[in-house]
Amino acid sequence: MIVVMKQGASQADIDHMTARVEELGLKAHVIVGTERTVIAAIGEKREAHKESLESGPSVAEVLPILAPYKIASREIKQETTVVVAGSLSVGGNRIGVIAGPCSVESEEQLMTTARAVKAAGATALRGGAFKPRTSPYSFQGMKEDGLKLLATAREETGLAIVTEVVAAEDVSLVARYADVLQIGARNMQNYRLLEAVGKTDRAVLLKRGPSATLDELLLAAEYILDGGNPNVMLCERGIRTFESHTRFTLPLATVIYLHGKTHLPIVVDPSHGTGHTYMVPQMAAASVAAGADGLILEVHPEPETALSDGYQSLTPDQFVETMELCRRVAGAMNREI
Ligand code: PEP
Ligand code: MN
Repeated sequence: MIVVMKQGASQADIDHMTARVEELGLKAHVIVGTERTVIAAIGEKREAHKESLESGPSVAEVLPILAPYKIASREIKQETTVVVAGSLSVGGNRIGVIAGPCSVESEEQLMTTARAVKAAGATALRGGAFKPRTSPYSFQGMKEDGLKLLATAREETGLAIVTEVVAAEDVSLVARYADVLQIGARNMQNYRLLEAVGKTDRAVLLKRGPSATLDELLLAAEYILDGGNPNVMLCERGIRTFESHTRFTLPLATVIYLHGKTHLPIVVDPSHGTGHTYMVPQMAAASVAAGADGLILEVHPEPETALSDGYQSLTPDQFVETMELCRRVAGAMNREI
């Protein structure tokens, strides 16, 4: 249920109703919007609870939450959530751009990329230090040494760091270095990992599983929100279909659908979504046209020698061109990039 407070309800009344929700054995999540404050009361819905809450001070109405996900639902918060992590802001008028290599490979590779993407207007640096690879024989990442290089890059450029965490036991280590914890597509339904990042104060970029429905994605986000972490961005990165001309199939209608269902901001990954460098600039621009709040793009100074995903990485020059194209489309959409 949602307890909708009247406009201008006092903090004392909001605190009182939060306590009432908890007394009824329900979990209370207070969501402060620009127009009104609502208290999401999560737990088993009983008619008696509804009636008792309705008679509380400054309560405008008590409504059921119809969606299977609750805190993620647009029903409880009309305005899009703006997730801020250092230099990165996603969900406001300005589109956030996370760019960098698939994997951190060396100091030179990372610093060259960080400087180039910063100069071209990226607002965060990506780079995997723990890599979830399909084959156990592929490069698995530089682990903590990679995290240290990312921290150095942040120090020099001021760019927020987005990096993947693949296991619950690594969360505290990765959170020590990262501004944003990326949950990869393969881990979208690793519920213990979702619970672990839900307990941190780091923003989370949750990628859609290649075979997951959008309801499953939203319910995965709900695990993180329910754990107490409100800073969640959802990421469409392509799904598995019968089509093989692209690495995955990148459905951009996802952005429009999700904006209707959730207040969480939506990021698109045209690099993994297509798997081909030549398709990335236009699909990035198309993502902006579809209303994406953020982009995540793989950039490598020398894609030919990349240890992972070189075939879908932009060179720094191609990244500059992609940003220019996206800027033009963003202007047409009344947004900035
Ligand atoms: C990545 O971002 O490099 C990555 C592994 O992405 P995904 O989890 O979407 O495959
Ligand atoms: Mn990659």
